[in-house]
Amino acid sequence: MSLSKSLTAPTVRPEWQDAKRIVVKIGSALLTDRDTGRLNAKWLATLIDDVAGLTRAGKQVILVSSGAIALGRHILKLPQGALELDQSQAAAAVGQISLAHAYQNEFARHGLSAAQVLLTLGDTEERRRYLNARRTIETLLTYRAIPVVNENDTVATSEIRYGDNDRLSARVASMISADCLVLLSDIDGLYTAPPQQDTSARRLDEVREITREIEAMAGDAGTELSKGGMITKIEAAKIARAAGTHMVITLGSRLSPLKALATTAPATWFIAPTNPVTARKRWISGQLEARGTISIDAGAQNALAHGKSLLPAGVRSVNGEFGRGDVVKILSLDGHELGRGLIAYNHQDAALIIGKKSTETAALLGYPGRTELIHRDDMVLHKK
Ligand code: GLU
Repeated sequence: MSLSKSLTAPTVRPEWQDAKRIVVKIGSALLTDRDTGRLNAKWLATLIDDVAGLTRAGKQVILVSSGAIALGRHILKLPQGALELDQSQAAAAVGQISLAHAYQNEFARHGLSAAQVLLTLGDTEERRRYLNARRTIETLLTYRAIPVVNENDTVATSEIRYGDNDRLSARVASMISADCLVLLSDIDGLYTAPPQQDTSARRLDEVREITREIEAMAGDAGTELSKGGMITKIEAAKIARAAGTHMVITLGSRLSPLKALATTAPATWFIAPTNPVTARKRWISGQLEARGTISIDAGAQNALAHGKSLLPAGVRSVNGEFGRGDVVKILSLDGHELGRGLIAYNHQDAALIIGKKSTETAALLGYPGRTELIHRDDMVLHKK
């Protein structure tokens, strides 16, 4: 080792250092022992120690954990080899309880609560449901509960599945505007060629663009045992990058893998060209079709200019036929377009509650709705 290298303190990547909201994907091959099918309890304890440490440091961590089917097939003593769909769904039902229990116990050691979130494809793909799942996860984070997400394997059928947790974790990261997505894998990154076969194969430290060449590397490299191979990881990187989320692949099987990632562990970073807020706002303003308009009074206009959400009280009129989660234009009383946003109510319900105080809306709607008509995170204001 050269002198200069040995004197250099290990550097923490800014993408990790600056990340406030981090999604960590944990694969089945890490969580369960391949021979016995049992939970790797010791390893999990060190991972949760890392997560608790990050939480104490003020970071928000969301876990996307596989392992339900792997644990369940062991408990149900199902045969080796590929399972039928109904068998894997039964295995997931049994295994998911054990998995949730393990997370609950591990987080309890640190005085933290684990929160189980089971998603099906529509929950991140359909905007109406997307707003719900997003807000629930955000609420959990404000209570400092740690969301532990998995696919709802027991009900998802093959046509409506994510199928692998690499892409699920990227969808979750993009939905909640995470700064960083960590894929804990059984390989420490993306290689130029399969490292077992090609001794000249080199791990890439950083990928700034997903080119054909990068995709071709993914076609061969990787030793992943679980559902996703390197190809689904590259797909995940595309989803994450488009949402402004950096993604990193690193070896998960060592103890305390997140602590290792923070210091010297080798990894491949997929750098996003923009940050999540910019990506989300760009997406909202890029929606060509606004389904309706809402006109707001001067008080609300002032509140929006100060970074507040839009409440029903400041709205004078609504126009158009829109559903929950659609894009609407926000107009001033003289008809000037101030911005756009994703509205939390359909046009019928919005018409009922405009001009009313938030305390009155539940009685008018017959259900307790959201306080905001358009949340500030779901809004883009045009520059003056
Ligand atoms: N959702 C599956 C499980 O919990 C895992 C999918 C994957 O390994 O990517 O078993």
